[in-house]
Amino acid sequence: MTCRHCNAPLDLDFLDLGHAPPSNAYLSAADLNAAETTYPLRIKVCRNCRLVQTEDYAAADELFSAEYAYFSSTSKGWLAHAQRYTAMITERLGLSDQSHVIEVAANDGYLLRNFVDAGIPCLGIEPTDSTAEAAGSLGIPILREFFGETLGHQLATEGKSADLICGNNVYAHVPDINDFTRGLAAALKPQGVITLEFPHLQQLIEHCQFDTVYHEHFSYLSFSAVSRIFKAAGLRVFDVEHLPTHGGSLRVYGCLENADFEQTIAVASCLQSEQDAGLLSDNIYQGFQTRANAVKTDCSVFCWMRRPRGNQWLDTVPQPRAIRF
Ligand SMILES: [Zn+2]
Repeated sequence: MTCRHCNAPLDLDFLDLGHAPPSNAYLSAADLNAAETTYPLRIKVCRNCRLVQTEDYAAADELFSAEYAYFSSTSKGWLAHAQRYTAMITERLGLSDQSHVIEVAANDGYLLRNFVDAGIPCLGIEPTDSTAEAAGSLGIPILREFFGETLGHQLATEGKSADLICGNNVYAHVPDINDFTRGLAAALKPQGVITLEFPHLQQLIEHCQFDTVYHEHFSYLSFSAVSRIFKAAGLRVFDVEHLPTHGGSLRVYGCLENADFEQTIAVASCLQSEQDAGLLSDNIYQGFQTRANAVKTDCSVFCWMRRPRGNQWLDTVPQPRAIRF
């Protein structure tokens, strides 16, 4: 396999979590006696562009099926986050009933319902039938498709270019990240803005959040890698915010290369922070498996220690053993 972005060989290992079934592919009662399909869950790093990515096994249409079970609106905290974002971005960009907002991966309409309420025209792109139906029932126009360059051009041709394209927690889920990013550029008005939110790789590494690794996340994104991918698609990042969501996320602001937006100081600061954290060197990735294994070992030992025997808690600590996933 080669890098999803720059096509360089992927020879730097980051994490091997063994085999696992797709996370949101729940089994029905009828399936319980059948064999369950599992896929290797291994993460590699591109030494050239530093995009951290899963090895290819499961295809997107196997992961994001018609019965996709993740509905964003089930989280009250996430609904409140979407409401705050809508108010902030509407004011920052001066959005009105003359604007057009596109959300990629609109899920069940958890975000666009706020734009509908504010009278701002919008369109959701959502490939999974189960969630798209829920969004449609809220009166949100939905296109049931995967987003990419072809669809971006089609929207522009149909006069549906956007003043704002938002994508919350979709960028990491995209198998062909170059095609997706070119689609963003194609569907954007000349002075339009893109905002993307995604879990920040720097937080994953610093806090050893290996439990956030799953097949639906094709990429584990740093700001440096995203800036590079944007640039290759004729876009540039001009601002970035740190968010507490999903263990620590970034919200990246992008525009077309020649748009008028001035770059904020946050851009250089975030790039520097990633460099200082070692995200551009090999060492930090090479040591991650050991750190993840240690968490697993400590957890196993802790559970064993706290197991009551009669009325007594065990208080002897066995020597941790190396346990592979
Ligand atoms: Zn690369």
